[in-house]
Amino acid sequence: MNGTIDVAIVGSGPAGCTLAALLALRGIRSVVFDDDKRPELLVGESLLPRVVSLMRRLDIEDRNKTFAQHKPGVGFIARDGSRLDFFFPHTPIGGVPNYAYNVPRPQFDNLLRTRAEELGVVFVKRRAELEKGSTPEREIQLSADCLASVPELNGRHPKLLVDSTGRARVFAKVIGVGSKRGKRNDVAYFAHFEDFDVQAKREGQAVITTLSRGWSWRIPLPGRLSVGVVVDKAVAKEHGDTPEERLESIINSEKFLAPAGKNRRRVTPVMTYTNYQLISERGHGPGWVAAGDAFGFVDPMLSPGLFMAMHSADLLDQHAFSKGAAILDQPAKLAKAFDKVFAELLDWHEAWSELIEYFYDGRMYALHAAGVQLSEKWGENALPRLMERHLTKHITRLLSGVATRSRYGRNLLKFSLKHLVWDVEPAENFAIRA
Ligand SMILES: Cc1cc2nc3c(=O)[nH]c(=O)nc-3n(C[C@H](O)[C@H](O)[C@H](O)COP(=O)(O)OP(=O)(O)OC[C@H]3O[C@@H](n4cnc5c(N)ncnc54)[C@H](O)[C@@H]3O)c2cc1C
Repeated sequence: MNGTIDVAIVGSGPAGCTLAALLALRGIRSVVFDDDKRPELLVGESLLPRVVSLMRRLDIEDRNKTFAQHKPGVGFIARDGSRLDFFFPHTPIGGVPNYAYNVPRPQFDNLLRTRAEELGVVFVKRRAELEKGSTPEREIQLSADCLASVPELNGRHPKLLVDSTGRARVFAKVIGVGSKRGKRNDVAYFAHFEDFDVQAKREGQAVITTLSRGWSWRIPLPGRLSVGVVVDKAVAKEHGDTPEERLESIINSEKFLAPAGKNRRRVTPVMTYTNYQLISERGHGPGWVAAGDAFGFVDPMLSPGLFMAMHSADLLDQHAFSKGAAILDQPAKLAKAFDKVFAELLDWHEAWSELIEYFYDGRMYALHAAGVQLSEKWGENALPRLMERHLTKHITRLLSGVATRSRYGRNLLKFSLKHLVWDVEPAENFAIRA
């Protein structure tokens, strides 16, 4: 690809690489900064079906299959051992594939990067240094040293900078963009194991388990199981001093994890992540825009992270760049297009937060218990059973990212949680405890 480089993307995670590749497909050249210092393991291993649509668009699904595990759905094990199992439907839903993948993240990120490189994107191995902008058209800019380090830029500052630095939120910190944080403040420890039972109903199903305090994930990968625990920071301290001690002690003390992992062998170091929710006060300004976690991130229980990161890149591409690079010289039009992107992203965040809360506060499990009782009482083909099937279909669509923002699905769920739950244990008994 020839021509000047108009866009500099800071951060080569899923958001940055997806955007770089999509821009290249439009003939817009970009440069991506990243220091390439990736740890051996990264969270973000369980994907949603809509990520597969994006893989197809980027023509990388076949290569992804060589290292990924097919994922047919997700299961939830409640405190009392009851299960909620959701499987993606037998046929594609609204053009979206009816399956997803679990992936070793570093390999998945490398694949996205390779694809972007194949499309002509220039990668620069260094952390980008940024400073407040020196003109009204540029709220933030690359430092002179950083600019000079990329020969392809010929000393010319790019027209647009993209913050895809994930939770580092580098731009927001330089120019002082505030944020709103959610109420949880957990820590997550995870590692890969061999000979650890996932308790899946179908091969590849990811399983979320309510712990005595906090929750855990078990994500099957080829030949391994990713096991993570997400607990309040105070709880973590009760389980030892190091991440290794804490992860092992929590597994050993849990009634579902301990027997499932009794023969386990840990085959990687234990990684630590803080877990919280955050949304920036704004996602763009003169000469810059944010993508992925740099704008906002949701709790990981339902695995929306990579989808949101890649979809934010897709939205930027669709709303701002569908007619090519000319918009980069029309700041008012560009700002209007970005407004549209962030209105849509905020709606996504709201929809995910609403759904995740039903799992945290126990109402989803109470609804399921009520559904089981109804079908036991009325039989397979009676109206309550048909209603339950209809509801399950819509919850699966909400969880899969296919129709998470659907007003009908959200209202149906809200109505059911309010009016169809009786004669079962109170929701608090199923809630995730801090
Ligand atoms: C505990 C936990 C579990 C999770 N589980 C899942 C899951 O199962 N499924 C899922 O989909 N999501 C999950 N997520 C969320 C997922 O990891 C993120 O949403 C996703 O990684 C966001 O992608 P991104 O591209 O926005 O940012 P990142 O993946 O964080 O990428 C940002 C990149 O920017 C680089 N960078 C930072 N500063 C600079 C700089 N100054 N210059 C150059 N480069 C820089 C970093 O090195 C990094 O490579 C989980 C998150 C947590 C905390």
